[in-house]
Amino acid sequence: MTSLDSFEGSRPVPAVILFGAPGSGKGTQARLLREHCVNGPHISTGDMLRQHIASGDEIGRQSRDMMKAGRLVPDDLVNRLVQARIQQPDCRGGFILDGYPRTVNQATELYRVAALFGVEPSVVHLLVDYEKLVARLSGRRQCPVCGTLYSSKTNPPKVAGICDRDGAALVTREDDREEVIRERLRQYDLETRPVLDYFRQVGVPVVEVEGAGAAPEAIAAGICSNLTQQGRATK
Ligand code: AMP
Repeated sequence: MTSLDSFEGSRPVPAVILFGAPGSGKGTQARLLREHCVNGPHISTGDMLRQHIASGDEIGRQSRDMMKAGRLVPDDLVNRLVQARIQQPDCRGGFILDGYPRTVNQATELYRVAALFGVEPSVVHLLVDYEKLVARLSGRRQCPVCGTLYSSKTNPPKVAGICDRDGAALVTREDDREEVIRERLRQYDLETRPVLDYFRQVGVPVVEVEGAGAAPEAIAAGICSNLTQQGRATK
């Protein structure tokens, strides 16, 4: 099947782009939105890249040092990963993007490909104060097996240090150290924030959501009601 054939003749494919600084809760919200109002897979470019690093392949080798330092990996590499992923059959009823696009180049490419495949993107922007983000990120732990993120304060595992889903011992991500967190936030300001202006300019709907000060479930309920109003909820 060629890329152009994949969605031909089918209904528009709603894509929810979860947008926000590192630690703003994109991964947690993606999981909750899938439970409550959005069908289709949660596509996290960070998780995909970490899987490549774990498997020790060429993509992993190209990304490892940049990720460790909190810098962005090259646009071409992530664009190729995402384009291959969104052509999989499980994306035909919609999907959630987490951590992509992160530069105006990536956004431009996504917008081009979305038009080809009949994908209709909408953006949910999670707003969180930077000092809260640093505290959140440095207190978070991840399951090395399934990728689930936990936070000591807002979303602790049932048993300390153990993943609720598969019982694996939780780890601190290499890029969740404070100096790396600050670099990731700097990259966000420099490269990623302008993506919002790009989306507004091309007419992609952008919803602003307070990503702190309420329980993740309450934040998700607000997002779902918004997506329903826009006609973008799929379950
Ligand atoms: P995340 O898990 O989304 O915080 O991503 C972790 C790291 O993966 C980032 O700090 C980047 O080094 C890399 N990364 C993830 N997504 C992208 C992207 N769309 N563009 C460039 N680098 C990315």
